Amino acid sequence: MLKQALVRFAEIAKGFDDYERLKLILFASGAKASTYVVLKVDSTNLSEKYRFEKRLNDLGVVFVESRMRAFEEIDRIVRNKIIWKIAGVWVGYDLFHDKKSLALFKKYVTDVRKQKHKKADLLGGKLYSYPKCCIKQYLKEQDMSYLKKNFSYYSYYKRLHDVERKFPFLMHTACKVNCRDSAKLNTKYKNAVKKYAPYFYKKFSKKKVHNTDLIVDAPSDIIHNGRSIWPVKNALEYSVIAKKKFEGHYYIYTHLTRKFYDFGAVLNAQVSMQYDYADIKVKGVKKEIRNLMHIRKFFVIDRGF
Ligand SMILES: [Zn+2]
Repeated sequence: MLKQALVRFAEIAKGFDDYERLKLILFASGAKASTYVVLKVDSTNLSEKYRFEKRLNDLGVVFVESRMRAFEEIDRIVRNKIIWKIAGVWVGYDLFHDKKSLALFKKYVTDVRKQKHKKADLLGGKLYSYPKCCIKQYLKEQDMSYLKKNFSYYSYYKRLHDVERKFPFLMHTACKVNCRDSAKLNTKYKNAVKKYAPYFYKKFSKKKVHNTDLIVDAPSDIIHNGRSIWPVKNALEYSVIAKKKFEGHYYIYTHLTRKFYDFGAVLNAQVSMQYDYADIKVKGVKKEIRNLMHIRKFFVIDRGF
């Protein structure tokens, strides 16, 4: 079922990040049966919420809208302070092609609320057409002792980076780099985007290389009962903040490396962005910002039921 008007909207609306555009295009082209997209609204695109909902209604898309919440972004970086500001509001939309999927979704939400996580995840996987092998693996990884036993810090994050690069059109984490069902799905999605949204495809797949200084922020970790499940680390996945704006925004990337950097270190780097990820080549360590701090009101976009 192709909804061309929705594909167009996904391509041009200002309130979508690329990842949201991708999900909406896949849904509108009929490649995905259900999806969840976030629309951001600020002073530059006030009418988009109305126009988006009008299109959904006109096309007979069944949707559930979240309540509005504010979001922050980095406004400026002054010496050791990363200063965030409230940039606008966001609304999440669950989209379905029919009422049957909506009913399935409601059951899913009920299960999540009742803490029936296994049941919910199986249902969610079905709803969003994730491969069975990947759902199974995802469920296994909810168990901290499984993670600890089967992965080192490095191999855990390395797999996340690898599958993201191998399957840039997928919304789920593939169970492994050579997952065949994920490969098939990735090709299907890629072809749908190429065919129905060529403008977005070109933009999304284009490699953008730029040089910037990066500020080393806190590393990722999995905390269980107040401590890391990998007390000894053989690498670190850092969060790094670009000091220079790129296309009007301060970007935050993740960088997995076996080299260790101090919190607040400033790295001279080359960033290659493609699809929804960035490859970072560190050319040198310049200096260190002492007492690096974030000045912000609340946390990043996350959904909760
Ligand atoms: Zn799989």
